[in-house]
Amino acid sequence: MKLHYLIFMYLTSLIGISTQAQTYNAYHNTIASGCSQSSVDTNLQEYVNFGIKSVGSTAIQNSLDWLKAKYQSYGYTDIVEQEFTASGQQTKNLIITKQGSTYPNTYVIVDAHYDSINGVGANDNGSGTVALLEMAKQMANIPTAYSIKFIHFSAEEIGLIGSQYYVDNTVIPQNMDIKLVLNIDEIGGINGQTNDTIVCERDTGNPSSNNAQSSVVTNQLATCIGFYSTLNTEISYAYSSDYMTFENNGEIITGLFEKNQTPYRHTPNDIIANMDTVYVYEVIKGATGALAFFAEADQALSTNSEVFSNLDVYPIPADKKITVYFGKTVNEVRVSIFDINGKTVFNKFYSNIENSKTINTEKLQSGIYVMTIDIDGIKKNQKIQIK
Ligand SMILES: [Zn+2]
Repeated sequence: MKLHYLIFMYLTSLIGISTQAQTYNAYHNTIASGCSQSSVDTNLQEYVNFGIKSVGSTAIQNSLDWLKAKYQSYGYTDIVEQEFTASGQQTKNLIITKQGSTYPNTYVIVDAHYDSINGVGANDNGSGTVALLEMAKQMANIPTAYSIKFIHFSAEEIGLIGSQYYVDNTVIPQNMDIKLVLNIDEIGGINGQTNDTIVCERDTGNPSSNNAQSSVVTNQLATCIGFYSTLNTEISYAYSSDYMTFENNGEIITGLFEKNQTPYRHTPNDIIANMDTVYVYEVIKGATGALAFFAEADQALSTNSEVFSNLDVYPIPADKKITVYFGKTVNEVRVSIFDINGKTVFNKFYSNIENSKTINTEKLQSGIYVMTIDIDGIKKNQKIQIK
């Protein structure tokens, strides 16, 4: 192992990106396999039927209402419309949040613009729009460690205005902790051609501080596409879509874009008949597997909900002591604490706990740690901080 690789591994572990070898995950495959061609086709037809979704049009407002109703039908409740002005017209971004259990305040963002220009935008960006819908549908009842935001941006076609508004008015003021942004724009392919490759896009622009991390997640995205779809992948660079506003803010971005590029973009001929919906479906399957990977979908997190229903760990940040509150009698529990490099810094077994256990953390240096609480093999990870 070369020294620069060790340094790279250290730096990536500091920012919380695992460089561990990725393995095929049967659970993630089950989630991805839930994607349905007919659901993709139906949603795409409905999107197209609204007409030209230019900013300020009735068509784009109808599309927004339609998107909202879809998410509600999938069981999502945290649905926010964000209104702003673009080229003198009122328009809206739509933001759907799914809460993660271990890192509820860290977000995997998946985004696609839903406005179109000069045409109905079947490929640009009906394809990305229905991708988000299908991914959200499959993930609706899947427990994840990280929170997910599905964001439908408006006013992309007139200068990335919707995503810029979101970065300026939500990401920056809230100091939002974003694990990564996956942008999906034009994954339609070309009818009659062999559409068997999807381009995974990494950040090569300025600022350059986030480029290495973008490279890591883009390679991970490509690996997931390989695991969970029939497609080949190609790595290229990100440009000219909503992820750029996040990239300019220093966020870690990646993206999906068709290999065979439509000649009908921004024309009345950007219609379903000119694209390859089987290709769209395969890209969505791969992207769903990738989302399960990035958000750390884990079946065990659901059984956690009963065992750890009353769990509370406090105070955070902790000073010399931290209390693990169970809210019930626990026969046997193991509490471990790991530093940001994954090194075990605390590991103790306790039995016959009444309600809570207070742990001495005096010896821990200040910083961020992960506490793992293991009751009969069911584990819960909790991010903690020591002052
Ligand atoms: Zn587009």
